[in-house]
Amino acid sequence: MNYDVAIIGSGPGGYVAAIRCAQLGMKTAIIERYNSLGGTCLNVGCIPSKALLDSSEHYHNAATNFSEHGIELKNLKVNLAQMIKRKADVVKITSDGVAFLMKKNKIDVYTGHGSFLDSKTIEIKKDDGTVDKISAAKIIIATGSKPSFLPGITIDKKRIITSTEALKLEEIPKHLIVIGGGVIGLELGSVYARLGSKVSVVEFMDAIIPTMDRTLGKELQRSLKKLGFEFYLNHKVTGASAKGKEVTLTAENKKSEKVELKGDYCLVAVGRKPYTENLGLEKAGVKLDDRGRVEVDEYLESNIKGIYAIGDVIKGPMLAHKAEDEGVFVAEVLAGQKPHINYLTIPGVVYTWPEVASVGFTEEQLKEKGAKYKVGSFPFRASGRARASMDIDGLVKVLADEATDEILGVHMIGPRTADMIAEAMVAMEFRASAEDIGRMCHPHPTFSEALKDACLDASAKRALQI
Ligand code: FAD
Ligand code: NAD
Repeated sequence: MNYDVAIIGSGPGGYVAAIRCAQLGMKTAIIERYNSLGGTCLNVGCIPSKALLDSSEHYHNAATNFSEHGIELKNLKVNLAQMIKRKADVVKITSDGVAFLMKKNKIDVYTGHGSFLDSKTIEIKKDDGTVDKISAAKIIIATGSKPSFLPGITIDKKRIITSTEALKLEEIPKHLIVIGGGVIGLELGSVYARLGSKVSVVEFMDAIIPTMDRTLGKELQRSLKKLGFEFYLNHKVTGASAKGKEVTLTAENKKSEKVELKGDYCLVAVGRKPYTENLGLEKAGVKLDDRGRVEVDEYLESNIKGIYAIGDVIKGPMLAHKAEDEGVFVAEVLAGQKPHINYLTIPGVVYTWPEVASVGFTEEQLKEKGAKYKVGSFPFRASGRARASMDIDGLVKVLADEATDEILGVHMIGPRTADMIAEAMVAMEFRASAEDIGRMCHPHPTFSEALKDACLDASAKRALQI
């Protein structure tokens, strides 16, 4: 078969690219090695983790906050099997939705492992050993990423696990040791901490979520400690092994002081690496960069004309919405349009409670580039809405240009900030000043007023509520 476009990988990058290509009139094929479409995000990433985060949050609230609200419960208990089943149902419905969209948009789906035979031809090996071959004028690599491993630590997938196994445990760990205080470690650590596990996080850097504005990590650490997390920051893991049902982890800090932790599960969450295994890139002549990512230019085209790459397999943040936007971008480039992605306004969210959300420059980045900026902030404890819902942890921090008042970055930790960050994104995209947002009427009482007040604080030190 001959196509205008063939896409390898059906994650949020690949399936969105396929839909946009089809919408633009291209004859499109998508190749996915698994039967279930949707990639990491839908199957073992964003969606299942959020399903478990929601379930565990309900339980945690019922166990800890409901009585304060005047709701008495007796014999509350967790049915983990049901929680995991509900998560699987959510994944199935979502993945089936992608299959429906492929059909609706007349996109041919090939199930099997795709690899380049040359720069225009892809071979697809199916599970039953049979092989399909297709050719395409343009090819988009959207093969995503896989978990990174630590040298010397064997992931047995039973006791020493990655996020994929952590999403389907059959029991609630008594003591979950997490290597890596990044997004995965803190989100999945939260799931089990809420369900009653002791959670210990061992992080190499001096802060959790260290790449986000440092205010956020400090605040989040305080909230997670209340949930029972313990943290070993500035600790380098030196080993982890499993024996029977016990996991032993060793680490040392900068002064070479050693710690030994014993738990029943160890989640390794130290980042992800681009996935290009057995893709035949050498047959097509596609170059990788020094970190194993497909090297692309400003049009997301690789060194080989007609071969593009998007999502986790290229540079940039490993986020589903970034992959999606790049999918649309490449489709529109192929159609001769002039699309644009503003990488500065791609938000990042951590779905802990309180939620963490961020867009634009961090204060550390502004300092590093010598920018002159103003800082405004507003604590949720001063918000009537937050007090009504008993969600008073966290704050909104706004960074604005000292001279022009233009918003340069917004960093939030607090209730529903995952959704609230969209307002800051729009503001930045339209290059609003802090005063612009501060003068806009926000509904009362809402959490969103915290952004308005943080903007007023940044703009002219005149927050209104307290
Ligand atoms: P992927 O989603 O990884 O999809 C790539 C697809 O390509 C896979 O289905 C793979 O099987 C297929 N493939 C690979 N090689 C071949 C081949 N040779 N032939 C055929 N098929 C192939 N991001 C967020 O923005 N928000 C979140 O809340 C979030 N939560 C996450 C939670 C977890 C636990 C994890 C692990 C990740 C999370 N992410 C989240 C990150 C997000 O999942 C990724 O950024 C996103 O999935 C990247 O999309 P992609 O299309 O580039 O690749
Ligand atoms: P991450 O980069 O967020 O965090 C990894 C952490 O591990 C870092 O803080 C790092 O300093 C630490 N680390 C690295 N080596 C270590 C070592 N030897 N010992 C101790 N700590 C070590 O990576 P992740 O949490 O694995 O997530 C992978 C990717 O998936 C991320 O890029 C993230 O963007 C994406 N993701 C996004 C979301 C979301 O958007 N909500 C959720 C989950 C995953």
